[in-house]
Formats: sequence, C-alpha cells, structure tokens
Amino acid sequence: MNRLLQVVSFLSVLFAFTAISAHADTQNGVTCNVQNATTFPTGGGVYPADGHLYECIPASMLIIGREESIVGAVQKFKSDISGQQGALEYLQSNGALFYHFRTQADAIAYMSGEYPNSLLVPASTTRCGYTGADSKGMFMSKRITSSIFDMCHYTRAGIEDVQNPSITETVGHEGGHAFDYTLALNSSNPGTPTSETTPFLDYVGNDLQNENAINPSPCAIFGSAVTSALEYDLQADALTPVCQGSTVQAAYKGKSITNILQLKSPYFFFPSQVPGGIADYADAWAQMFAFVTGNGRQTNFLPVTDNAFQSFQNLCFGSAVSYWKNHLAPPPVGGAPDFPGTCATYPASEWNH
Ligand SMILES: [Zn+2]
Repeated sequence: MNRLLQVVSFLSVLFAFTAISAHADTQNGVTCNVQNATTFPTGGGVYPADGHLYECIPASMLIIGREESIVGAVQKFKSDISGQQGALEYLQSNGALFYHFRTQADAIAYMSGEYPNSLLVPASTTRCGYTGADSKGMFMSKRITSSIFDMCHYTRAGIEDVQNPSITETVGHEGGHAFDYTLALNSSNPGTPTSETTPFLDYVGNDLQNENAINPSPCAIFGSAVTSALEYDLQADALTPVCQGSTVQAAYKGKSITNILQLKSPYFFFPSQVPGGIADYADAWAQMFAFVTGNGRQTNFLPVTDNAFQSFQNLCFGSAVSYWKNHLAPPPVGGAPDFPGTCATYPASEWNH
C-alpha cells in the first residue's frame, strides 16, 4: 500500500469511527441516540431532527409525542419575515445541539462524560433544562448545547423530580439561551452575551419603570394567577396570588410592578438573589425568546412570570428580542417597521456585535 493509500485508509477508519460515535454514545450509563430523517422519521428531517437532536431516554420510557414537541418548538424559531433567515437557521448553521434527557441526573451523568470539565455540563441547581456554550480545539470551534429534562428537578421543598409541565416552553427558553450565546460567540466580544450588553439592560430597565407608571394597579398585569411549583422553586416569595379579582392581596399592597417582580420572579429580574441565577438579564432574554417564538404561556409552567412577560412583549424589551430573532441584527437607531422608534435611543455599535 502506498503512502497516500495508507493515509486514505486511516482516514476512512477514522470517519467510520466518527460516524459510529455520532450515532449513539453511552456515558456513565446514559445512552443518547442521534435523531435524523432515518432514525426519527416523524421528526420530518428538519432541524434539529436533522442530526442536531439527541434522544437520551430509552424507548420504553419515552412519552409519545415529546420528541416531536421539541422539533415543533424549535421550528417556531424562524423569522416572521418571509425569505429572511432567523434564529432557526442561525442555530442550525452554528451547529447548536439539543439533548432530551429524562432527568437532571441523567443529563449531568451523560454531559460530564461527553464534554468533561466544560460549560456544557448542567449544574446541580438546574431545574427543567440547561444551555451551555464554549469554544474548543485548535480552530476554536463553537459548541452550543441545550439539555431538555422530561422531569424538572426541584429542591426548595425537598429534593424531587416531577414531570415537566411544558417541554415546549422549556425548549423556547433554552433555545433563547442558545440563540443569545450563539450571537455572543460570533461577536467581536465573544465573552459578552447580547442579553448582558448595555442597551438590552436599558430596554428592560426602562420598560420596568414605564410599567410602574402605566399600571398603577398590579392586577392588570398579574391578575389572580397562582405561583407554580417551578416558580416557587425559582424563589417566588409564596404561592399567594398578587390579586383576587381587582383587589391587591395584603402582601403586595402599595408595591410597584418592579417590587412585585422582585418577590414573584426574582430569577428573571433579580437573578443575584437566586441560587443558580445567571448574571444580568440572561434569563429575561431567554424567557422573552420563548414568548416571541410562540412557545410561552404554557399551562402551569410560569403563570405569574408569564403574565408579566406578556405585558412586556410589545414594549422595547420584547420588541428587541423579536427584532434579533427575525433579523439576526441589532434594532436600528430611529426604529423600523417592526421596532418602535421610541426605543431606539442607543447606537447599534453599543451592542458589541
Ligand atoms: Zn434559563
């Protein structure tokens, strides 16, 4: 065998191994199978069921329709503007992966074997899902992974794993983190996610102030929604609703919208108060992404928090995330048909992208 053939032969062995390991892999007792048009025909072969989705739940324990729900939720990441590439294609072209695990423990077991000592391994504080991103190797290739848990892991009222109330809202939220991190990894300042840049923080801060002025009664925003188990685990103050009808309950009387968000949704608006909370507004960005992609407001997931997000959806905060999702670019100064001019008070260069 001549030298060139030897090299070719070695490469084909390497490719064969790569193909096998990409198909199914077992780490610490958890096996993940790649999902594509052949292995998961009901996924339609569309992203992420085009080789970017890994099913890590044994077939005997897999709830029918859940994998399809993941694909359906991700497909909603497309741009609202016809012919325009949006977050969907951006995540796909950057190779963002989705993993579907039964529990947080399975996710940690697998990811810590597959991506040892990396930011892709979920922390023990994660609840219904986790997203990590990093750059790796000689060519600094990007790695972005979202792990979706079928069971949410709660600790506040004792350690328990309970059925995830909404896989689709989880995918919308984790997809928002993946989109944020992908934008960051491609930016001139890859250490700074878009959700942490000054204009975005200002949009959220200004919207909060405006909400306090626009809505003297918190009942218009929060209504009588009862805090969910997930919100309670995310350090909501109590299960008590903010209002009964139009009557503000005692614990919230005289408080501003901002004060009530601090009590009811600290994870999203005051993350430093919460174990596992991400700095700045990364979780506000992610949850708004779930909203603007039509994956928000699912039953019993984040009922009180989502009432607030709905009120922000058409303000600057929601409009900014929507603009990014639709255009893969910062909202322009002076506004645009789909971005209010009153919000665009910051030069685009401040976005660091
Ligand atoms: Zn999050």
